[in-house]
Amino acid sequence: MSEADVAVIVVAAGSSTRFGGDKLGARVAGRSVLERAVGAMRAALPAAPLALVVRPEQLEAERARWRDRQVLVAAGGARRQDSVQNGFSALGPGDGTVVVIHDGARPFVPADDVARVVAAAADRGAAILVAPVVDTVKRLRADGTIEATVPRDRLARALTPQAFRAGVLRAAWAAAGDAHWTDEAALVERQGGAVAAVPGDPRNIKVTHPEDLTIVAGTFERRTRVGQGLDVHPLAPGRPLWLCGVELPGEVGLAGHSDADVALHAVTDAILGACGAGDIGEHFPPSDERWRGAASELFVRHALVLAATAGWRVAACDLTLLAETPRISPHRAAMRSRLAEILDLTPEDVNIKATTCEGMGFVGRREGVVALALVTLEPAVHS
Ligand code: MG
Repeated sequence: MSEADVAVIVVAAGSSTRFGGDKLGARVAGRSVLERAVGAMRAALPAAPLALVVRPEQLEAERARWRDRQVLVAAGGARRQDSVQNGFSALGPGDGTVVVIHDGARPFVPADDVARVVAAAADRGAAILVAPVVDTVKRLRADGTIEATVPRDRLARALTPQAFRAGVLRAAWAAAGDAHWTDEAALVERQGGAVAAVPGDPRNIKVTHPEDLTIVAGTFERRTRVGQGLDVHPLAPGRPLWLCGVELPGEVGLAGHSDADVALHAVTDAILGACGAGDIGEHFPPSDERWRGAASELFVRHALVLAATAGWRVAACDLTLLAETPRISPHRAAMRSRLAEILDLTPEDVNIKATTCEGMGFVGRREGVVALALVTLEPAVHS
């Protein structure tokens, strides 16, 4: 089955009452729970359309946050089941499409688990991930004493994602009317439909209480890679000045084949260095007419794709500029936020520093500008 036949709904419209705060915004290993949940689906199904269902009052803010990431943001309803239906309507899948429904509070799902639940749903119509129950299970009386020990060999914990052929969901919803159900698998099984149980990684937990964050953080790899980039361009009167993808009006520009954004060239080389992919000159030779006057953001984006292909994403970037002119401080905030945007980071994960060379050397003589970048990469899977 091709990925074009899959669509994803991430449900993030709950109220976090048991957590006592915004659990989806809580950070796990450097990223929010929700970003990780969406990222897990993206890593598993990179080409599938994805609808994120949020609380109606967060709709505009979330649309802005996900604007550049091909995420369709829809408003949730009063109950989880309404939110799922809103996400479904936003996607409008054909009956044969496998719709994957994932809980926004589950930041860790191996891509292989997603693939297996999708395959089972394509085959059987409905499937969910499950994990074994490892503790002995007791049924209690109202007075708090134990009535019985429940055999656990046929018990399982329900995880997400759950996956359904869209036609199966449509039929189940039509037959259910306005009844209440805890999840779509429960609805299908109550109507007598078969739901395949696919064994999944038991570490795929739903963040419910604050202490769950510590548990789930332990599932993410701590591996990092570091890359450095260095670039130099001569100052050239009459050229526009670009630094970090921002044009600095009224400043002396830099000479170069592209827009000569020395900062983005250093960042590009740092990313390429960290993932072992050579240097900017190899990928974008100055002899190539295609790159004449090119916006250097292109080079960074290409390096990000190469990093992603190798399984990495940027975790942080630290940039130092050596320049007598221009003065960086008035532009620092704009450069930081633009660079963060290009790297798909928050500004807190990007730092920009600048120094003069106290009048010494070619920088001191205002002949050129130097940029030094350090980039750390973290594993892209599950992130
Ligand atoms: Mg350069």
